[in-house]
Amino acid sequence: MTSGRWRPPALVAGSLALHGAAAVALAAAPQQWPWLLGLALADHAAMAQACLRPRSRLLGPNLTRLPAAAAARGEVALTFDDGPDPEVTPRVLDLLAARGARASFFCVGRRAAAHPEIAAAAAAAGHRLENHTHTHPGHFALRGPRVMEREIAGAQEAITHACGRAPRLFRPPAGFRAPWTDLVLHRSGLALATWTRRGFDAVARDPRRVADRLLRGLAAGDVLLLHDGGGARDRGGRPVVLEALPRLLDALAARGLRAVPLPAPDEAAAA
Ligand SMILES: [Zn+2]
Repeated sequence: MTSGRWRPPALVAGSLALHGAAAVALAAAPQQWPWLLGLALADHAAMAQACLRPRSRLLGPNLTRLPAAAAARGEVALTFDDGPDPEVTPRVLDLLAARGARASFFCVGRRAAAHPEIAAAAAAAGHRLENHTHTHPGHFALRGPRVMEREIAGAQEAITHACGRAPRLFRPPAGFRAPWTDLVLHRSGLALATWTRRGFDAVARDPRRVADRLLRGLAAGDVLLLHDGGGARDRGGRPVVLEALPRLLDALAARGLRAVPLPAPDEAAAA
């Protein structure tokens, strides 16, 4: 599934042009090699920076916040990564239902395949299930286009099968990507989505601090990142997200903000 022709993102196009020009220059004036090498290294450093910055747009379109119309309505997007988890996700769904909040779940495909009833329950409750790779591989951003394609297609199939709706958005593990991720996503018909704020609930053990981190300076339109799979536990052994989420939802309500799922780009344009 593709929509229109793919155009290389500015940084990728610039980098390819630079390398082409450097090759021509090297052939014409080989004695200039130290300058040309320096230029190539600087280009690679800029590329690495962009790959490791989840919120960067230099490697292609990236949904980091809600559209202006949604922000004007006082909406914030709640997103949960790395589930579904049989212990945590059903309780997250209960907490959201109790407060009338809806969210996006960036699911790991093989976990959705292992717990399809949880994925189906989330979808039935009005939440969105999106793509977060099939196996959540370490160093996803260092993998070639073929592995990326396989990871994305595997999750797409497993999540669609579990909940009856195909994901529209993709979030790479840790938000890191490669210069070719944008092309792979274009071919898969998916859009990249990251976040504006994260609570570090996958590593932080104090739920109060996780909620505070998300809430300090929070504004309508923000996209919040939490985890319903593989998250940290507090000193009592409870999943941190289950303690932090009620605090967060109560604070959102007190500020007149409403939690919603992230829209796909065409829905965002129509909002
Ligand atoms: Zn993840």
